[in-house]
Amino acid sequence: MRCPRCAACDDHVIDSREVDRGESIRRRRECRRCGYRYTTLERLGGAVTFVVKRSAEREPFRREKIVAGVRAACKNRPVDEEAIEALSLAIESELAQHGRDVTTEQIGVAVLDRLRELDEVAYIRFASVYKGFESLGDFEREAGLLTKATAPKQHRPSDVVPTPRAAQPTPS
Ligand SMILES: [Zn+2]
Repeated sequence: MRCPRCAACDDHVIDSREVDRGESIRRRRECRRCGYRYTTLERLGGAVTFVVKRSAEREPFRREKIVAGVRAACKNRPVDEEAIEALSLAIESELAQHGRDVTTEQIGVAVLDRLRELDEVAYIRFASVYKGFESLGDFEREAGLLTKATAPKQHRPSDVVPTPRAAQPTPS
């Protein structure tokens, strides 16, 4: 790294630490020629996606959060870890094309689009958290859309419309 004072390219690192929760490394450097000390910030190459939350707070995108949310929605459903992993990876690369910032809403919509194809019950569960469904009418509307979209398949109504806010009790 070229010294900002004497322009020599002869420095050494005297301290280095992780910042931004491990997203970057801050290095303290010293010029061997003139002894000037300066700081560099190193981060992963390529675009880093930031998530803009409803509160306008920004945080680095973490795929693990999608995995955790989808996994919770798929609890006791016939969806394996591999499918959840693949879904989260697909969303990560889709969001990377949006540019540097994505909103929580964009993420929610992207998850819902893919979850609908994976498992309808998981889709409704995720939608109930994400969209903040409060009335049974919301569920019925959403379930109606689903039934329409997948008309040839047969559903037991209890599979399609879970109890709002609470997971369906599993018979044991
Ligand atoms: Zn120097």
